[in-house]
Amino acid sequence: MFNLHGVNYDNMLDLVYNLPKAELHLHLHGAISHEAIMILWNKYIQYLSTEDKSFVSYLNKNKHYDNLRYFYSPQILLHEIENLFVYEDFYNFLATFGIFGFLIRKKDDLEMLIDDVLSDLIKQNVLYAEITITVSAYMRSGLTLEEVLECMDSACMKEGITIYWIVDLVRNSGPDKANSIFEDINSYGPAFIKGFTLGGDEKSYSAHEFKFLYEKIRCHNYHTTIHSGEVGTSEDLWDAIKNLELDRIGHGISAANDPYLLHYLEKKRLPLEVCITSNVTLLSDCTFANHPVTKLFSNGVCLTINTDDPTFFNTTLTDEYRHLLLMDFSVSEVLSLARNSFEVSFAPLPTKNELLHKFDTFLVGIDELINTD
Ligand SMILES: [Zn+2]
Repeated sequence: MFNLHGVNYDNMLDLVYNLPKAELHLHLHGAISHEAIMILWNKYIQYLSTEDKSFVSYLNKNKHYDNLRYFYSPQILLHEIENLFVYEDFYNFLATFGIFGFLIRKKDDLEMLIDDVLSDLIKQNVLYAEITITVSAYMRSGLTLEEVLECMDSACMKEGITIYWIVDLVRNSGPDKANSIFEDINSYGPAFIKGFTLGGDEKSYSAHEFKFLYEKIRCHNYHTTIHSGEVGTSEDLWDAIKNLELDRIGHGISAANDPYLLHYLEKKRLPLEVCITSNVTLLSDCTFANHPVTKLFSNGVCLTINTDDPTFFNTTLTDEYRHLLLMDFSVSEVLSLARNSFEVSFAPLPTKNELLHKFDTFLVGIDELINTD
């Protein structure tokens, strides 16, 4: 047992919960609570399965996935919800992530979802989050772009956390569709959006096909990241790095297989948004014991630790840091990774400095604890 700033902790695993944290790779409805799922299910599933042709067609297209059979049922019990998040493979996960978009149909659904997600982050002392939102998924369900943007804007007023948004332009929609979503959003000049990414199926379109779009995004002074080197290879990562001017890379763990790429990432200090439990859940042969985070770290690559979709992988940001401690990262290494997330965030400099100050202040007095750990 030790004490820091008047709070007693049993051990470092315990302290991680209160550690000031930042989350840079978090998909909004990937963090939906089980309670919110119940509410939306009761509200919409009957309507969706009888009236919404696009939902029925989506479900039928994916009916071979065992976990999605629940969506044929008018009711789901709270204890059954965890069964929705068991996947055969990465594509089963994508199909599951996609179907949840149908449950967010009105502005108040989106407001509830955002409030729910932010409240959970605040509880874990996440001071700062860049939340990825798939705007097109909610527009498919009937929300207007204006409604989605209003929800995003008002979320930034929430007390107790600083947030900005990253929009997922969805790689598998193709460059033209991604471009038109970007154009529509950009016409509003939203200051609360700090960057754009491409999520979805990494194997659908190559990164270089989005070169013109990323150039345009940067011309409008947004930051850029991309999901790459998750299910893709280090060649896919090189394609993204060479063709898109990137500020960070989502996942990027395939770099561990390529010594030249490891060296490049280290030299350029191009940060990766690592999501350990997500990879362990979705990638065959990836375990906590052999996760590439250890190799990436020992090669000096700038890493940040994230959850991706905490509800879909049954994790939290606190748990992700606990995994590192259990994977034999030292306390000071874990703290340096936690600090990276503030440092390489897309926050304006004064905000970043203020958050780093809060983080460093929390750590005053921790050195003694580390040395006795
Ligand atoms: Zn992601």
